[in-house]
Order: sequence, then C-alpha cells, then structure tokens
Amino acid sequence: MAEQNLMEKVVALCKRRGFIYPGSEIYGGLANTWDYAPYGTLLKNNLKKSWWKTFVQSRRDMVGLDSGILLNPTVWEASGHLESFSDPLMDCKDCKERVRGDKIIEEALGVEAAAGKSLKEIAEIIKKENLKCPKCGKCNFTEARSFNLMFKTHQGVIEEESTPVYLRPETAQGIFINFKNVVQTCRQKVPFGIGQIGKAFRNEITPGNFTYRTREFEQMEIEYFVNPDDKKASKKIFEDFKKDAFNWYTETLGVKKDNLRFREHDKDELSHYSSLTMDIEYKFPFGWGELMGLADRGQFDLTQHEKFSGEKLEYQDPQTNEKYLPAVIEPSFGVERSMLTILLDAYDEEKIGDEERVVMRFAPSIAPVKVAILPLVKKPELQKVADKIFETLQENHNVEYDESGTIGKRYRRQDEIGTPYCVTVDFDGLEDGTVTIRHRDSMEQERVKIEKLEELIG
Ligand code: ATP
Repeated sequence: MAEQNLMEKVVALCKRRGFIYPGSEIYGGLANTWDYAPYGTLLKNNLKKSWWKTFVQSRRDMVGLDSGILLNPTVWEASGHLESFSDPLMDCKDCKERVRGDKIIEEALGVEAAAGKSLKEIAEIIKKENLKCPKCGKCNFTEARSFNLMFKTHQGVIEEESTPVYLRPETAQGIFINFKNVVQTCRQKVPFGIGQIGKAFRNEITPGNFTYRTREFEQMEIEYFVNPDDKKASKKIFEDFKKDAFNWYTETLGVKKDNLRFREHDKDELSHYSSLTMDIEYKFPFGWGELMGLADRGQFDLTQHEKFSGEKLEYQDPQTNEKYLPAVIEPSFGVERSMLTILLDAYDEEKIGDEERVVMRFAPSIAPVKVAILPLVKKPELQKVADKIFETLQENHNVEYDESGTIGKRYRRQDEIGTPYCVTVDFDGLEDGTVTIRHRDSMEQERVKIEKLEELIG
C-alpha cells in the first residue's frame, strides 16, 4: 500500500465507520478541527484507560491529578511560555501562505539544520538554499517573526476590565504548581510522580496531517520528581520510562516495532528547560513524526515557580531531613497522535476470493467494540438468547448488537470497526446452548458453550 494512500484510506474509514468526523461539518467545517465519533470515542477512552492503568494505577510511586485549563497568568511567565513558546512565522509574498520557517528548513535539510537558529538565521537559510513555499513553489518570503502559540482569552464579564488568561499549552504546569499540595496531602516520598490526562491548546501555524497536528489536543503527562544529587537514580528513571513507553506502544497497544524509533534531540534543538530529550517517533505516511517526548527538565520548573510565586517548594526528606528542590523527568504522550498511530498501524487489507476485506487489527484490549452479538435472523427465539448474552457481556466489555443485513455484511462491518469477536446466535445452538464465535484476524469460527464466552474473550 502506498504510504500516502494509506492516510487517505484511514481518513475515509474514520468518517465512514464513525471514528472521526470533520469538526463543525454542517456549518462548512472549521479548518483542522475534528470530532471523535462513537467508535473513536470508545477507542480513545480505552487508550487513555490503558495509559492510566500502566503508568498511574499499577504503580505505588504515582498519583493522579486533574488541574485546570485556565491558570493564573503568572504561571506562564514563570514557565517561560509567555516569552519563548513561539515559532518562526513567515508569509509567502506571492500566495500569502503562512509557514513555519523552521519546518521548511527541517523538511528540506533535516532537523539539525533548523535547530537552535535565530529568526534572522532562519530567513537567511531559506533564501540561501532557495527553499520553496509548499503551496506555490516560489521562494519569496517575508522576514521571520516570532509568533506565540498560546491562545489568549479573558476572565471576567467586561472584556476591557478583565484579566487576560491563557488556555494551557501543556498539562505539565498544572502539576508543578500543585507539587507542594500533593506532598502535603498524599504521603508520597521522592522519588514519585504525578500523572495527568487533559486538554492542551496551541495556536499552531501549520496544523494538518489529519489529527497529527491540531490546535486543540490532549496530553498524557507525568512529572516525576527525583533528588537532584542522585544522578544515578535519575538516569535509571529516564531509561525505565524510555523502555516502559516503548513497551506500552508495542506490547500493550500492538504497534509494530519496525514503525517506531527513538530520536535524541540535538543540543541545539533542546527546549529552554531541558538538558536531555528523547522522542519516540512513528513512521507516519508523511514521514517520521514525534509520538511522545521524554525530557530531563532538571530543577527548572520548581525553581521558576518558587521565584515567581514567592512560595517555598522545597522537599524535605523524612529520613535524612535533607531539604532540596526536586529535579524532574517528564514523559509526555499525545492522545491524538497515539490514536492516529493505532489507526494507521491497525489498518489492513486482504483478498478473500474476489473480494477485498478491510480489517482494523486493533489489540483486543483497546478495540472500540470487544464483541458483536449477531442473531442469524430476526426471530424472537434467537433475539431472546442474543439479548441475554448482550446483557451478560456488557457488564465488563463494550458490546454491540446488530441484527440487520446479511451475516457476511455484518462481519465486514465489524472487521472495519476492528471488533475482535463476533458471536452468532443460530437455531442449532438453541438445542445445546451453543453459539458460533468468529475471530476477526483468522476469520476462523468455532462452536462454543454460551457460558464459556466471557472466559474466551478475556
Ligand atoms: P512538535 O515538535 O511536533 O510540535 P512538541 O515537541 O512541541 O511537538 P511537546 O511539547 O513535547 O511536543 O508535547 C508532548 C506531546 O504532545 C507530543 O509528543 C505530541 O504527542 C503532543 N502534541 C504536541 N503538540 C501537538 C499538536 N499540535 N497536536 C497534537 N498533538 C500534539
């Protein structure tokens, strides 16, 4: 399958089968916004649940948080976002397209060529290398200027008198400003981490590639606090998160190993707060792209918040009484990019005789629908048994009931939704309490006792 073709097929399937709809569609849309449809919502919830279970629930050294989207604006002064969370914006003088200067260089000459360059240098490189506008193909840009990515709004009823506030561009800062509260209320001792899943907003200059880069998205972030003098422990925690993140994508979510890679940031490329950053990238149809980032943020954030808030944020070790400001390791995952990865990676086509079968090979633990219950025909005797199975299984699983159309069409529909198991209720089974279970990947069918179903689907 040609790579670009794959993206088009997945976008079409998402619309056709109810995973992702274009945003505000009946009003002509709103560029680069997307609504998660019923199956997309189930998949997204399963993804977030899986992340939470792996990185928060199953660990004694982790607690969860759900902080606000609107924070005191000084938070963004302290974090450096007001001053430096910006991208180099340039306009094409010919076709008026707005572009990110660093991305134009990155795409033509590689990441290193753009890393750490000033606005002036970016404009110079583009001119010297004669890099073209992606829309009209000319090289005739304005100077590069700094464009802050934070969405600004107002708090209060009268706009002129109200305070400007920002929609958070990352969930991390909500964790840092609650560090002291968590230490005081939750009996956690350093090293420990705080995890959070929530919306973030960035006024991206060039959103696109379906849901890869959007202005509204969700992050799953951990701020993990360590003793800054214990370099050995920090290094191990960093390495463990690297491994755990990779294993979560491959073993739990079933993403193919060959489609993932690590990429360490060049020194010039590092964010202002980071001394070491490692991304996990996925081989998207448009090229390798960041899926999650793992950063060593050192003491930057807590130092800044101490300075700007005037509050002491030091931690006191209960055993040694040593006082220090913890350093931080941050794994940061994107929900939408993880979703897109799962959708692209699961998409498969195969020939069955003269027909083509499209099948989404989701890992059963995250598939939007775990089992479909399909009475062979619309007859009360079969419906009664099917209803009973539905009611039993839906206690612990997302189950779908479908009795319209031929059984073949119903199987094909479930294949495209990625349902790992279809249970068909027929007349033979009424005699001996059995049904047919059909496995999505092999299409094999077996006859099983109804009471064995729960155990079989796991
Ligand atoms: P990029 O370089 O692609 O802009 P980033 O390095 O700015 O990403 P981070 O600040 O490290 O991203 O954010 C952590 C994660 O949040 C990313 O790995 C990604 O999964 C997700 N993310 C960031 N920006 C967006 C966006 N505009 N749309 C969707 N997901 C995003």
